[in-house]
Amino acid sequence: MADNWKTRTKLVHEGIRRSQYGEVAEPIFLTQGFVYDSAEQAAQRFEKAGEDEFIYARYGNPTVRMFEERIASIEGTEDGFATASGMAAVSAALTSMLKTGDHVVSARALFGSCLYVLEDVLTRFGVEVTFVDGTDLDAWRAAMRPDTKAVFLESMSNPTLEVIDLKSVAAIAHEVGATVIVDNVFTTPVFSRAVELGADVVVYSATKHIDGQGRVLGGIVLGTREYIRKTLEPYVKHTGGAMNPFTAWLMLKGLETMDLRVRAQAETALKLAKALEGDPRLGRVIYPGLASHPQHDIAMAQLEKGGTVVTLELKGGQAEAFRVLNALKIVVISNNLGDTKSIVTHPATTTHQRLSEDQRDALGISQGVVRLSIGLEDADDLIDDVSRALDAV
Ligand SMILES: *Cc1c(COP(=O)(O)O)cnc(C)c1O
Repeated sequence: MADNWKTRTKLVHEGIRRSQYGEVAEPIFLTQGFVYDSAEQAAQRFEKAGEDEFIYARYGNPTVRMFEERIASIEGTEDGFATASGMAAVSAALTSMLKTGDHVVSARALFGSCLYVLEDVLTRFGVEVTFVDGTDLDAWRAAMRPDTKAVFLESMSNPTLEVIDLKSVAAIAHEVGATVIVDNVFTTPVFSRAVELGADVVVYSATKHIDGQGRVLGGIVLGTREYIRKTLEPYVKHTGGAMNPFTAWLMLKGLETMDLRVRAQAETALKLAKALEGDPRLGRVIYPGLASHPQHDIAMAQLEKGGTVVTLELKGGQAEAFRVLNALKIVVISNNLGDTKSIVTHPATTTHQRLSEDQRDALGISQGVVRLSIGLEDADDLIDDVSRALDAV
């Protein structure tokens, strides 16, 4: 579509494929297969499917294709492939391009399932993985080897919100020819400048801000046409991680409002972080949008806002954290993020339970850490809710 369209226009119109009925809303092609006009046409399509020709929903589907094109257009990549979940996207992005003997350098602060893929799965197939402190550029430099094939990082870590200097890490990785794969969930597609900063492959759990309404699981891998079609697609289409068309339709509808939602959430997150900073009942307020955040300057240069998650550290450990969670009335206890509903999580006993105490300590995930994903409620109501819950300490 039009190259000069701005993000909000693309989020509503890009990639649309209308049927002969000219429907306004995107149609859901809830079909696993497609009928061919002749045996010759079937043979031809298997040999080489054209731009708007489909074979089987595991390979591709028109509704899924609309979602892929729409999000690729705002991320600024040539192409994308949608997957059944964020983890299907992360694991396919890595596994599709690696083989025995390859070396990967990864930031240590990772979502538990990403850590499992790198630490337990890839190594089982003879891929060597070196973990580094993602904020330490010397550590990235020291870990790089001539056989380093990929670099993996979460642009903003969960739940301690460390922001990685993507531009510098990408430059270091590219010196040895490594592919830079970024799990960009916490940055969100709205604030992402990952491609411009040097990422080769950008991965999202669409479950988070893209759906943004807590309904379905999904993921997307974005990159060059060469990488998506020659490396990723053969792997995903034959191993079965495809997104289903109904999910793609929900994701398309999520994209239409994503820019509005995420900007509003980030604005409320900043208000809440400012209201809580310096509160004597709290140990720390971690939010990249606050000047006190250790990577505040990088966050502002890289994503311009602080994102939609605020992390608090309570002085009184788990007992105090649990009292706060249980005292919240608006914010619900769950473990998703990027939802319209504000959500509170105690990472040490849930999302990061799998890690050892030592691993959690190394990542700064103490028993007092509480993660708040900011939703679309009124900012003052949320500030009151959190403030009242803090009285419980
Ligand atoms: C949620 C999440 C994932 C996994 O996504 P699913 O859709 O739950 O499979 C991967 N990485 C990050 C940073 C996440 O927050």
